[in-house]
Amino acid sequence: MSSNPDKVWTVLSMLEWATDFFEEKGVDNPRLSIEWLLAHILDIRRLDLYLKFDRPLSPDELDRLRPLVKRRAAHEPLQYITGTTDFLNCTIQVSKEVLIPRPETEQLVEMVLNRYDSAEELSVLDIGTGSGCIPVAIKKNRPNWICAGLDISDDALHVAQSNAELNDVDVSFFKGDLNRLESKGKTQEQEWDIIISNPPYITNEEKVELDPQVLNYEPELALFHDKPLEVYQHICKFAASQQAVLYLECNDKIAEQIKDVALQFFGKAELKKDYDQNNRFVVAE
Ligand code: GLN
Repeated sequence: MSSNPDKVWTVLSMLEWATDFFEEKGVDNPRLSIEWLLAHILDIRRLDLYLKFDRPLSPDELDRLRPLVKRRAAHEPLQYITGTTDFLNCTIQVSKEVLIPRPETEQLVEMVLNRYDSAEELSVLDIGTGSGCIPVAIKKNRPNWICAGLDISDDALHVAQSNAELNDVDVSFFKGDLNRLESKGKTQEQEWDIIISNPPYITNEEKVELDPQVLNYEPELALFHDKPLEVYQHICKFAASQQAVLYLECNDKIAEQIKDVALQFFGKAELKKDYDQNNRFVVAE
């Protein structure tokens, strides 16, 4: 990218050069990666790059692009580099303190939105809220509901709060430990109609199977837990004490066991599949 200082770069020559460069570095989706970064720098939509192939890149644009290309070549997720991602109809800011929202989690939120409309005024608590994507998206689509998120990480709560502001919704976030939800439930008067959670559910043994892009960049606290079943048990117990309907995102390898845990506290628990046909969710009531 810098070998010849007099070379004039265009959108097209950059797309071609960086695609090859990313390919050499073994980066996933090389072409998409440079399209995303270039669109970010030029502040245009990705598809509009195709209308501007001959547009020259200024020295200033190249200076801003260079460090981003370097980060991507080191396999950093695109969402952390550009700082945002889409989640349903929301823009969600992400930083290394929070997990990048996944399509499965969109599906989890859609299950709630498909089942209850705005006619009901419901309250929803998201346990382990991370970026806050879940309660922010629910509030955006159900403005008359009460939506809240709980997390143990101050850094995550900070990101979650700014996501509520960015999306212009009123969501309360508070600090809490999912291992001690009982006391939180007691000190708090609020009874929740719906509890939703995508807790850390990857065991340490499963670490070796993980994509390095996830392992090296996303927060351990959000991903891993030694005993995920215990996490689910705490959440189930708390949700049952609130007589809430519970929506859980699960590790597919232990989804059956999570359902059994839910059945210790609820009369009914149902497994649901994600788009890849893995057992990904448990709904209990
Ligand atoms: N609730 C957030 C999400 O679904 C964070 C989940 C987590 O950190 N385990 O993206």
